[in-house]
This record gives sequence, structure tokens and C-alpha cells, in this order.
Amino acid sequence: MKFSQTFIPTLREVPADAVIASHRLMFRSGMIRKLANGLFAYLPLGLRSFRKLEQIIREEMNAIGSLEIKPPVVVPAELWQESGRWDAYGDALLRVKNRLGADFVVSPTAEEAFTSLVRDELSSYRQLPLSLYQINTKYRDEIRPRYGVMRGREFVMKDAYSFHTGDASLDEHYQAMGRAYRRIFNRCGLSVISVQADSGAMGGSGSEEFMVESEIGDNTLIFCKNCDYAANVEKAGCKPDFSPRMDALARSAAAGTPPLSKIDTPEVRTIEELCAFLKTGAETFIKTLIYRAVNVELDLSAAPGCSGLKKERPAPGAPEVYPEVFFAAAIRGDLDVNETKLAAVLKASEVNLAADSDVERLTGAPVGFAGPVGLSRIPVLIDHSVTAMNDAFTGALEKDRHYQHAAYGRDFGAWLIADIRTVRAGDRCPLCGGELYEKKGNELGHIFKLGLKYSKPMKLSYLDEKGESHTPLMGCYGIGVDRVLASIIEEHHDDNGIIWPMTTAPYQVVVIPIKYEGAVKDAADTLCAELEKEGVEVLLDDRNERPGVKFNDADLMGIPLRAVIGEKNLSGGSPRVEIKARAAKENRLVELARAALDLAGQVRQELEILNGASS
Ligand SMILES: [Zn+2]
Repeated sequence: MKFSQTFIPTLREVPADAVIASHRLMFRSGMIRKLANGLFAYLPLGLRSFRKLEQIIREEMNAIGSLEIKPPVVVPAELWQESGRWDAYGDALLRVKNRLGADFVVSPTAEEAFTSLVRDELSSYRQLPLSLYQINTKYRDEIRPRYGVMRGREFVMKDAYSFHTGDASLDEHYQAMGRAYRRIFNRCGLSVISVQADSGAMGGSGSEEFMVESEIGDNTLIFCKNCDYAANVEKAGCKPDFSPRMDALARSAAAGTPPLSKIDTPEVRTIEELCAFLKTGAETFIKTLIYRAVNVELDLSAAPGCSGLKKERPAPGAPEVYPEVFFAAAIRGDLDVNETKLAAVLKASEVNLAADSDVERLTGAPVGFAGPVGLSRIPVLIDHSVTAMNDAFTGALEKDRHYQHAAYGRDFGAWLIADIRTVRAGDRCPLCGGELYEKKGNELGHIFKLGLKYSKPMKLSYLDEKGESHTPLMGCYGIGVDRVLASIIEEHHDDNGIIWPMTTAPYQVVVIPIKYEGAVKDAADTLCAELEKEGVEVLLDDRNERPGVKFNDADLMGIPLRAVIGEKNLSGGSPRVEIKARAAKENRLVELARAALDLAGQVRQELEILNGASS
């Protein structure tokens, strides 16, 4: 391909909103252009890399027996109403009406569409297991799209959905998907970390995320210094540990603690204000937060204040839930409640801090004075950390008053004790007790065991050998294609531009004639023809530009190998070409006659290394 005949609008300036390398470089190298906030067009150069990445993903999906289909992107709202997500998904779901006023969804994900397609065809156990995937456009109406295609509104995702007769079959495919994902990321030259993840509102029993380390990552990942433990902070657990002072207190019996008494704390509400007022540390307080939980599946028939609550079925076939329940969550004052873990404990689709008016109604005091002592209108859930507190300050359910000398077991109890704290660096590993540390990460892929989450409400069924009807188990498996592409650039670039791994490079070789005329032009044309005959993807920079401009653009585009042809090296007995790898510092002079074979050999070798690392 001749540069003059393609459309690669390279730029020297950086767009003002491009704060990360991949965004800057994709824009400057002419891979993408922004059409509107969060909406990008891939230009020819960018699309070449994009298609290669899609093909890598496609090959690995096909290799584990997943079958590609192409469902529509716009799907009827009824399917999302059946699954209960029409209401539950929130504002990120783009809802549209057609000319007749019927509601549709622009798919942000496709559990409903795939489940519906399979429902219409599935009858016998003989059709299972079945795994289907698409590589297709998705739309999420993000509030704040940023970082270029890393977090856009419209993007392409590979999403696969599998259907099984039992746990063993689901687990086998889930594991195969995990291995396929590792091969995909290896082939892209990406260093990916896999972590345990929360299966949260998506439901299900197993979940693994594939992350790349990134300063702009929207996930906090927790690792153990001592063993392989790795988890998203949303899921991460820890061994209960207590600061030395609390540990010492925990050992002393509550009997040694002075009796509970009230103290005046005028206009003191936050933990920081209390610490300053009482001249003590946050670890001596019991922080109590009032939460509103939505769609709670946990049985609350014996919970305080819940006797009158009624369970409802949000969708036919879905489990019965309490639509709205208020809880108090108590935790040691220097720790934070992890709302994802709290929601998981309550089996709730969502938990949010209660409104001020609800807090006043339920605790009898304004916000800032809640505490577990005497709180009887709602269930009190306490974190493990509180069970070790024998002499604590806490809210007295009265304006401007706190308790001192509150002891767990003596002055208050709990409806439920659970691990609901946000794990942080320095905490102890739940597996080995080693020290935990944090990193920021960006999610590239996610695999999930969905179980019956969609198949049950959407009434999927098959008949077994005996003619009995069953609901199949499901798994779902996603990879963000744009995000993987941007992450490759994040990991492979320098000050001058992108350094593509051979597997996703838009072209494998760029041929740069110093001046595209005469003998130089002939040599460049011949070399390109020979390279193409060898199956090498080559870009010929035939533009009438200064050599410096061509070199800079080649570096910016990140084409792995560069061949420079100039008059000086062509004259004399053996005409020669300058060859340089994008990542190398030095040129190499190669005989023109051997240059095509030399370059083709390097291309093949690098492809083999990357693709081979996959097996
Ligand atoms: Zn460990």
C-alpha cells in the first residue's frame, strides 16, 4: 500500500483532552478521530490493527468450540423487562422508541438477546453444551466518557454465552475460556493479571477479571506479598486484624471496661470532628451507617423491625425478594464499609446510603449520631472489627450525644456479623496471612458463571434423557476490543510513538525511499513487490516529504520494521538497504537483493514468538 493512496492524517499536536498515551498516539498517528464525546471513528490505519485483534480473539474462541453469530444491536425492551434489567440497569442503558412508539434497547451487553435466541431453539439435552459469541458494537451511556477509546460510549465487545446441563460442564467451559483469554492477551503482548471478582448484581457463583496495571485504572486490585492471592478490592477479603491498641483491648474482658455512659458532643458529627473533640484516634469509634438495600434475597423473617416486610417476585421465575429494606452497618471508625461486599452479604441488587430523612426516622437522631447501642427499628449488621471492641465511642441515637465505654457483647449485639470492610494495603491475606498491597488496574476481560440468573426468569428449558424438563446453567464471557487495543499501546510505546507487537501492527514493514524517484523509486517498488510476494504487509512511504518527516511518522505509527532506501547506499558494487526495528537503536545495512527475505524472516519469527507463547 502506498502512503499517498491511503488516508493516514498524522498530527504533531496533541488534543487537549488526551491525557493518556494511547489516546494521544491513536489520535496523532491517524488511527482514530473523535466524532462526539465518547464516540470515535477508526480510520484505515486504526481499523487494520482493530481487525487483527478481532481475528486473534475469533481464532481463540473458535479453538474452544464457541460459535460466532451476529445478533442485532437494537433489541426489543420486552426481553430486558423479562430479565428485570429494564429497570435495574439504570441510566447507562440507552432506551429508544421506534416510529410506532415501541421501546427498544441499544445493547450494552447481550445476555437477554442470546438467552432469547437459544430459548426458541433449545429442546433436548443433546443440544448442550452450547457456546455462542459475537464481536459486535455495544453502547453504554457513560456519564463521563474519557481516555479515548479506553472508556468510550460506543465500543466493540466480544461477548460469549454458554449453556449447560450441569455444573461440571459449565466449569469445564469456564476454565477453557480462562485459558483462551490468557492466550489472547499473550498473543497481543499484554501483561495481564487475573483476579477474583465480585459476581454482584450479575449473580452467579464464579467470576474472574483480566486486568492490566494502569495509573488511570478504575479498579483497585489487592495482591498478597506472600502467595498468589489476587482480587478486585470489591471482592477482596482479609484476615481480621486489629491495631495493637485494639488487640490489647480485645484481650481484656469487657468486665474491665467502665460502665456505658453518655457524653455531650455538641455539633460534632464526623469521625474527624470527634477525634479532634475527644483527642483520640478513629479506631476507638464504632462508625454506624444506615443503608437502603434494594431487592434483598436474604431471609429477614427473624430480623429486628422486619416482621411486617413482604417479599415480592420482580419477574416471573425470579427469586422472591424484599423490594426495599433499611439496615445499619457498624464498623471500626478507621475502616470503610465495602458496599459491594455488603450487597453480597445481603444478597441485594444494590445498597445505597439512606437519605437524611430516613436516618432521622429510623435512628431518632440526625445524621452523625447513629450507633448500635439501643438501635432496634432495623437490623444491625456488624463488621468483624467491631467484635473486638470492648471500650468504644459511638453515637447515642440522640442529637449532640455519644456513648463512651461501649463494649460489644455487653452493651450491644448484632443481627449479623460479617466481613464488610474495604481491604487496603497492609491488611492480612485471607489465605496465608501475608501482607496485602494495592495496584490500580483496567479491566480488559471478565468471565462469569451466571448459573440460573437469566435462564430461570427467561424460562429457558430442555428435556433430559427421561423427558423431564430442566433449566440450563449459563456462563458469560466478555472482552472489550477497543480497550485491549488501547492497552497494547499503553504497554508498547516510547516518546516518539507506538511500538506495535507484530501480531497487531497495522503494517509489518514500512519502506521509506529518501526521494521517491529514479533508481531509488525502482528499488523501493521492487522491494515492496518482493515483500508482498512473501506475504508481508508493507506500507510504502511515497510522499514527497523530507526524510525526517517520514521517519517521525514511521516511529509514530509504530510499524515494527523499517527499510530505508537512499541513493548513497544504492551506488557502488552491492546496493544496500538500511533496516531498523522500531524498538532498536541501531540500523543494519543489508544487501538489497536479500532485504525482502531478511525482513520476511523477522516478521515470521516475531509472529511465531507471540503466537507460540500462546500455546
Ligand atoms: Zn497470601
